Amino acid sequence: MHLHASTHDHRTTAAAPRRRSRHLLRLLAVLAALVATAAPAFARAPLPPIEGYAQYQPQTRCSPKPKPGAVYLMQYLDRRFPGTPGGISRACDVGGRSEHKEGRALDWMVSARTHAGRVAARELLDWLFATDGHGEQDARARRLGVMYVIWNDRIYSSYDGFRPQPYLNAGCKQLKGCSPTLRHRDHVHISLDVAGGMGRTSWFVGRLTDAVGGVVGGVGGAVGGIGGAAIG
Ligand SMILES: [Zn+2]
Repeated sequence: MHLHASTHDHRTTAAAPRRRSRHLLRLLAVLAALVATAAPAFARAPLPPIEGYAQYQPQTRCSPKPKPGAVYLMQYLDRRFPGTPGGISRACDVGGRSEHKEGRALDWMVSARTHAGRVAARELLDWLFATDGHGEQDARARRLGVMYVIWNDRIYSSYDGFRPQPYLNAGCKQLKGCSPTLRHRDHVHISLDVAGGMGRTSWFVGRLTDAVGGVVGGVGGAVGGIGGAAIG
């Protein structure tokens, strides 16, 4: 920003408008300086050490209210990936055991029937399972506390190093005749462990929690809602 240094024009009334604009320029300069000073405060602090692969913590209780980590992740995916948010919550009397009933699983709606849908899902999985700059495999999935992902007849489990394995829902005897939803061909399912669901794993530091895991802000906008028939 260029500031005019002249201070010799205070005597004439004609100078008043220019004086005002100079004052405005100074004010803007001060504001710019404040913003520049404040900016580092918004930069993300270095992340804590990466977690190992999440332990399997299956749903054991009925607590379907969307948990903050799941809500935050859904909103993040919505900003970043093609596809649309599905459900987080599920009523406890619908279907079998599911982390949806603890509000720590989320469904991301994409279709395996279209090329674009398959590309979108691949993009999400690649993001989750990418190796970070320190050579840590499946870095985001580990930092998020992902227990498993189900997509298109395959399950990617933390306890399997996220290597894809064939998936057949307990509600189906075989793939043939199994619904697109139970086969997870119309959505990607992501289950978080308890800490991830609460937004207390390292991925959330600087986003949802501070360095010691304290929640720093509310989670805006309910993304949840009761998930339909999606199981898994
Ligand atoms: Zn699901």
